Amino acid sequence: MESNFIHEFIDEDIAEGRYGYEGKPIYTRFPPEPNGYLHIGHAKAICLNFMTARKYAGLCNLRFDDTNPLKEDTEYVESIEEDVRWLGFEWDELCFASDYFDRMYECACELIRKGLAYVDDYTADEIRLTRGTLTSPGTESPCRERAPGENLRLFEEMKAGKYEDGAHVLRAKIDMASPNMNMRDPVLYRIAHSDHHRTGAAWCVYPMYDFAHPLEDAIEGITHSLCTLEFEDHRPLYDWVLESLEWPTAPRQIEFARLAVTHTVMSKRLLKQLVDDGSVEGWDDPRMPTIAGMRRRGYTPEAIRNFCEQIGVAKANSEVDIEFLEHCVRDDLKAKVPARNVVFDPIKVVITNYPDVSLEPAEMENSREAPELGTRTVPFGREIYIDGADFMEEPVKKYFRLFPGGEVRLKGAYFIRCDEVVKGEDGSVKELLCTYDPATKSGAGEPVRKVKGTIHWVEASTAVEIRVRECGYLMKKNADGAYEFDPASLSETVCMAEPSLAEARPGERFQFFRHGYYVADGKLTDAAPGGVKVFNSIVGLKSSWKPAAEPER
Ligand code: ATP
Ligand code: MG
Repeated sequence: MESNFIHEFIDEDIAEGRYGYEGKPIYTRFPPEPNGYLHIGHAKAICLNFMTARKYAGLCNLRFDDTNPLKEDTEYVESIEEDVRWLGFEWDELCFASDYFDRMYECACELIRKGLAYVDDYTADEIRLTRGTLTSPGTESPCRERAPGENLRLFEEMKAGKYEDGAHVLRAKIDMASPNMNMRDPVLYRIAHSDHHRTGAAWCVYPMYDFAHPLEDAIEGITHSLCTLEFEDHRPLYDWVLESLEWPTAPRQIEFARLAVTHTVMSKRLLKQLVDDGSVEGWDDPRMPTIAGMRRRGYTPEAIRNFCEQIGVAKANSEVDIEFLEHCVRDDLKAKVPARNVVFDPIKVVITNYPDVSLEPAEMENSREAPELGTRTVPFGREIYIDGADFMEEPVKKYFRLFPGGEVRLKGAYFIRCDEVVKGEDGSVKELLCTYDPATKSGAGEPVRKVKGTIHWVEASTAVEIRVRECGYLMKKNADGAYEFDPASLSETVCMAEPSLAEARPGERFQFFRHGYYVADGKLTDAAPGGVKVFNSIVGLKSSWKPAAEPER
């Protein structure tokens, strides 16, 4: 992994003997809340944490930050474990913040005994209204001067379930006039009579993020707590919690920029909305920026890791062009994925002078970029399909594909000339009557003459029907310039494919020659025995991404 400003901080810490010396390893963690599926923004944090540990021969935990029972679920825990592994990382310890509930409660009591926390009777609204503003101090709650003994008794009763949600909270006693709003007696604990996905009904008080997170890090021996930029203003509170508890070696919080990508959103809340209202097929819809969606879409873990590596780690938020992500995916696939012939919007071509109905083999290379992928043979015969886009009845200037009277090369076979256009009753093109020149067979030495266009085809009697889904961008900009879901982002067509695609396994990737990269959908393919294969578009063949647009570091 390339060095970044975080590594410079760590180098400093090692040099000054704070962490990473005398057998005390550099220790990081990836701490998702299990309230949704992971997205590509999380992938950035995963790569950063695991790769940083690797760089320093240190350790990295996967920790579920499960302190809010209202939104968390085991389904999410399982998907997160699967996604982290799929990305290629193995954690040293699997941890749950909920395993520390006893310890956190003890720490809260300790703060109370030290006179650094108090039980407040204010409602959430009252707390908000007395917090002050950026330019004026807040006002102190009348409960602020409660004696520690009284606070301990009330906190104990909160834990025992004596009070309704919202009746009391535990607040830190810091400074209601602090210029940092987060330091104005922040809430540490709240009452929530709600079952937790792991601890069930054992607790009805739950710690707030700002209190829980530093404790989770410290309990696990984390040395560097990497988090996104919005927590920069919370760092004084992070440090306050551990200092107040006189923790011997406190972790160091370092903030980095959140990843944003054009044409999509990175918020679990907004993504969940799309899932819940049925706009998408689920968390793993191939248009979703989730790891599960990208996996189903045919993206590879290598491509995602490369992307995360190349966008770098910066201290300022910025938006990365989605075309850069696609560039990374294409770059990875082009060396690995074999080509197949698939005809979109098919037109039937009858080669009238082709001897009979028997078939002959045509040899095709599997990849121009990766010759080691070898060749395959496909059948050629009297009737074939070509792409609708490869024929024009009235050709525009410089159209080098097929048109009446024109000649074109069939990739791996012969030249054909279009003699006649047969139309249906509605005037649409039904089939093309063509003749071939046996002297132009592909691979039989120098061509007898030149043609400018080469097109692909599939033999009609052996062709298989497949369903092809074009996955566009999840979001488009509305009139106000804000992103909103684009319902037209998924479209499906029926195409004709060379016979081998009938054997495609779920998750298998191909280049559809001249069209783009596609993957056999992991859910819909083989869903019904003998059913039609379904493919999702992964990425197009051509990049519109320019190195000049390289994201800033
Ligand atoms: P969301 O708003 O999508 O729910 P979150 O930050 O609440 O995101 P967490 O589950 O708390 O999600 O995130 C786990 C880790 O991943 C955190 O350390 C967080 O900073 C990091 N992370 C989340 N989103 C991004 C992002 N877009 N870019 C980089 N890191 C991210
Ligand atoms: Mg969150």
